[in-house]
Order: sequence, then C-alpha cells, then structure tokens
Amino acid sequence: MKKHNFSAGPCILPQEVLQKASEAVLNFNNEDLSLIEVSHRSSGIVEVMEKARSLVLELLKLENKGYSVLFLQGGASLEFLMTPYNLLKNNGKAAYLDTGAWSSKAIKEAKIFGEVDIVASSKDKNFSYIPKDYVIADDADYFHCTSNNTIFGTQMKTFPDRKGLLVCDMSSDIFSRELDFSQFDLIYAGAQKNMGPAGATLVVVKEEILGKTGREIPSMLDYQVHLSKDSMFNTPPVFAVYVSMLTLQWLKDLGGIAAIEKINKAKAELLYNEIDQNPLFEGVAATEDRSTMNVTFVLTDDSLKEKFDAAWKRAGINGLGGHRSVGGYRASIYNAMPLESVVVLVDVMKNFNN
Ligand SMILES: *Cc1c(COP(=O)(O)O)cnc(C)c1O
Repeated sequence: MKKHNFSAGPCILPQEVLQKASEAVLNFNNEDLSLIEVSHRSSGIVEVMEKARSLVLELLKLENKGYSVLFLQGGASLEFLMTPYNLLKNNGKAAYLDTGAWSSKAIKEAKIFGEVDIVASSKDKNFSYIPKDYVIADDADYFHCTSNNTIFGTQMKTFPDRKGLLVCDMSSDIFSRELDFSQFDLIYAGAQKNMGPAGATLVVVKEEILGKTGREIPSMLDYQVHLSKDSMFNTPPVFAVYVSMLTLQWLKDLGGIAAIEKINKAKAELLYNEIDQNPLFEGVAATEDRSTMNVTFVLTDDSLKEKFDAAWKRAGINGLGGHRSVGGYRASIYNAMPLESVVVLVDVMKNFNN
C-alpha cells in the first residue's frame, strides 16, 4: 500500500495524476512516442502549454484581466532574483515583509538591485507568527510577501491594501484557498508543492507592470522575453508542465479552489484540534496565523521522540519530520492529501501515550 506522504516538498500529488503522467511518459497522445522525447514545438506539446496556462487563469479567476502565465525554470528561488530584476527601478526601493527563511532569501536577492525596506519581521520569535501592523511606503516600487511559510507553518490570512504593486511568493499554498487573486500584480510558485514535479516555476504576471525599470535585463531573466515567446524562449520543462496541467485539471474536475478549500479546512481543523487537546503535543505557530498547508508541532516531552517516531512510521506515514530550523514535526497537508491520511495521523497521535 502507498504511504501517507506528509512531505513538505517535493510532496504528494494526486494518484490519478501520477498514473496518467506515467502513461504519457510511455505513450503520449497515442502517438507511439514518449511525452519527453517529442519536440517541444510539436502541436501536442504546444497544446499542453496552452491548456496549462488557461487552467491557471481559470482556477485563479484571472481571465481577461491583463494577466499572463509563464512556466519557467530555476524554481521559486530564481524568482527571488527575477522579481527585483524586472520590477525594482534603478535607484528605486522595494518593501518586503520578512516572515521566514524564504522571505529572507528573497530580501537578500532584492538588495542587489536597490534599497530594501523590511516593513516588519517575525524573526524575533523564530517566525512563529505573521506581523500585522506595518506601514508600506507609498513610494516603494512594490511590496513583496510570502503567503504561506512552508517551514514555520504560518499563513497570511489577509494582504495589505495598497495602490502600488503587490508581489507574492505562493509556492506552498497556491490553488489551496479562495482569494481575490486580482489584488496581486505578480504571483510566483515553484511547482513542486501544490501543482506538479520540481522543474517548473509558475509565474502569473500583469503585463502592464513590466518594462519599467530602466535597466537592461538578460534575456533568460526577462519576463517580457518569456512572455513574447509563450514560455518557449528556450526548451520548457515539458514533463513538469504536463504533470502540472494534469493536477490543475484534477482540481477543476473536483470543483476548483472553492471545493478544495473546504477539504483543506477540514483536514487542518482535524489535526489542529488533536494538537490542541492532546497534552503530549503543542502547536508551533500562533493560533490565528496557522497554516492550512503545513502544520507544525512539537512533543511536550522530547524524551518521547523515539517512541513517537516509531509509531507514525509503523502506521505507514512518511515525511513528518520538522525542518531543521524548527525541529519537532511538520505535517504538510497539501491539496492532494486525502482526509483519510490525516485521520491516520490523528489516530496515531490519539493512541500514543507515555
Ligand atoms: C519551497 C519554497 C521555495 C523554494 O522553491 P524552489 O523551487 O526550491 O526554489 C520558495 N518559497 C516558498 C514559500 C517555498 O515553500
């Protein structure tokens, strides 16, 4: 039987998506060729790219609103660099909210291009909460935030209302909950958490915001170059985009983001309830900022670690170890994680006693 995969990333994908992907690797579109051995310019692959792009806009409700979709490479980590390269004006200033390791990395890259105003940071408490009261300067070229902090298990529930540009790293919670996505001017996400395999990075950008930095941008790092070539400036990560397309289709068939959000809430509630009522466990993140995607917790008595680890492994659970900077445990319950697997984990916790 397949394991209950609580891994943080790469992570669980829908079983039917894996099945279809493996079939296409052997025989794509009944062409008697593998998906990964046909030209990326063949009509079948061009169709896949188009379908993936249109599903993104449809699911995010961003059709006909001036947004374009790109599938790039280099992971979300390259977007830490590409966003300031493309949006931070020469001698300009950008505002960043520092909510964890990923935000900190994004800040480091932005500093290469200009002044970075860190509007607030939760570093004082090892990023266990989301700062709330901060001021974003009107003259900041853009404001950057991380919607879900994969490592620490916190999630932004609201986003600042501002006239200027809003940029968001949604790597670990995109397509997981309903938001007014049109409040963002640029969204990026590594595929490998809620969408597909590592190797593709999703970028959703409002075209009108590009080309205004006054800076020369190398082709591979220039969003406008990729846009003008429909994400085919160079060979795209065909397999990663194909699997992403299958996952997006799976999500659409399920009823879209509204439907998955209900399931995600039910999974998170079940697990947080157990953490809160079981004296052997304690949550890590501030209650109001708890993530519905990455649930972080610790044992109240660390000497029980070996015994607890043996118990969840025995139940067929994989990937529950916390990030080295937080310790304890992290249950990643992304879109593809079925409620039944969360029930298995909660049962292990319920039945665990010292
Ligand atoms: C995983 C993750 C990243 C890094 O993604 P890569 O694709 O490995 O570069 C960045 N931001 C967040 C929020 C993440 O969860």
